[in-house]
Amino acid sequence: MQKNVTIVGAGLVGSLLSIYMAKRGYKVSVFERRADMRTARISAGKSINLALSDRGWRGLEGVGIAEEIRSIAIPMYGRSIHHRDGSTAFQPYGKKEQAIYSVSRAGINMKLMDLADQQEHVRLFFEERCTHIDRKNQTVSFDNDKTKATTHIQSDLIFGSDGAFSASRLSMQLTSDRFEYNQHYIGAGYKELHIPAGENGAFRLEKNALHIWPRGSFMMIALPNSDGSFTCTLFIPFEGEKSFSALRTKEQVKKFFEEEFPDAAALMPALLDDFFANPAASLVTVKCWPWTFDDRIALIGDAAHAIVPFYGQGMNCGFEDCVVLNRLIDKHKENWKDIFAEYQNLRKPDGDAIADLAIANFAEMRDKTGDAKFLLQKKIEARFSEKYPDKWIPLYSMVTYSPDIRYSMALKEGMRQEAIMNQIMGIHNIEKIWDSETIENEMLRLIQDSVSELLVSAQ
Ligand SMILES: Cc1cc2nc3c(=O)[nH]c(=O)nc-3n(C[C@H](O)[C@H](O)[C@H](O)COP(=O)(O)OP(=O)(O)OC[C@H]3O[C@@H](n4cnc5c(N)ncnc54)[C@H](O)[C@@H]3O)c2cc1C
Repeated sequence: MQKNVTIVGAGLVGSLLSIYMAKRGYKVSVFERRADMRTARISAGKSINLALSDRGWRGLEGVGIAEEIRSIAIPMYGRSIHHRDGSTAFQPYGKKEQAIYSVSRAGINMKLMDLADQQEHVRLFFEERCTHIDRKNQTVSFDNDKTKATTHIQSDLIFGSDGAFSASRLSMQLTSDRFEYNQHYIGAGYKELHIPAGENGAFRLEKNALHIWPRGSFMMIALPNSDGSFTCTLFIPFEGEKSFSALRTKEQVKKFFEEEFPDAAALMPALLDDFFANPAASLVTVKCWPWTFDDRIALIGDAAHAIVPFYGQGMNCGFEDCVVLNRLIDKHKENWKDIFAEYQNLRKPDGDAIADLAIANFAEMRDKTGDAKFLLQKKIEARFSEKYPDKWIPLYSMVTYSPDIRYSMALKEGMRQEAIMNQIMGIHNIEKIWDSETIENEMLRLIQDSVSELLVSAQ
């Protein structure tokens, strides 16, 4: 008999998961708290654009919809670093053809909903807020925001894909013994700002780059939108000398932007209005365990692993959850006990790893991308990797362009590489001899001395 699936949340992951499940013949009902953004024309929530990379593409390819999304994606081939004096420097993200892609959050979410709607076996319900999951009866309760009516939906499988502040997860936390839960807010928050398009939709900064204004304890980034505008995000501590709390008046904000981001400020005519109209939002990491319950309920996407955005991987990781789950359904032939057991055992270490990598990347983006020694280290790594691709894949490339390498493996390998690079960067005169044979040989020697689990597992 055809199994019923209830998915809580029609965000990025819930919408994609519904397509995966429908294509396998499940009867899928998706319940979303908000109104249908395709008709209500409401804002799709925080962060207007997102970076999509290879793990995310793989998730979309798995159900044959990558091309649909590619048509609304802008490739970014590297970071464009903006210094205080207005000068810029381009740092490629990887090899020449490698890029991450800027996609509108609303655009991709609406496209995924459209594609879900086109599946014979998917039904989407809006303004239905999950309030509770009854484990014993396999029932999810929803309150309709408009009619205030409550419905109880019983199904064979339940997926909680209702984001970082998941009601599904909370329900499991309240009703499961020994449920592990940890949430951590970093001291910085973010605010979205805007650089409008120039005349005739012209891009006023380099179109195919992710722009960064690294300033030590804070930074601003900008990603291109297809209408020629850029969405900027200011990441800055809530408290302290340079912080949201120190930016209370129009004069303070104007002075701060003119001093710190003069080239961007000149392109932001509505800066002061935007700054005071848009909220300062917080950034949280959520880790929890288990992710599955009674062989019938599972958490997926941010509901299972919310991470800070500095590696641009939250959505990518959630899409990868769908890929792994789909593979396990094949492997275990619909035996949900085995599927869920392996799903959470595989994904939990990877979710934890990308959460930690994302925290570490904040320091790298806001601080080190403007630092000469760090840039030299990246140059040495890139040169070595080009010459010995089987011996060295830079950490960024493992995370972003290597979906066959698990996040947990990338984290381990990245730590091994960092230890090697610390020794290399400590060599006398490294600035002068960085591209010499001596350095190359020293790297080869250090690599031989430390065991790479990644290279061992690839053999
Ligand atoms: C500033 C910022 C920048 C980011 N940049 C990137 C990036 O560049 N690349 C990247 O890969 N990731 C990025 N992310 C992370 C990415 O946004 C998330 O990982 C992704 O949205 C997770 O998808 P999801 O479907 O799990 O959750 P969400 O997209 O949050 O969707 C959850 C859905 O559930 C609904 N919902 C919530 N509660 C209920 C309820 N009680 N009942 C019913 N429905 C409910 C919500 O309305 C929503 O539609 C960024 C995040 C932030 C905050």
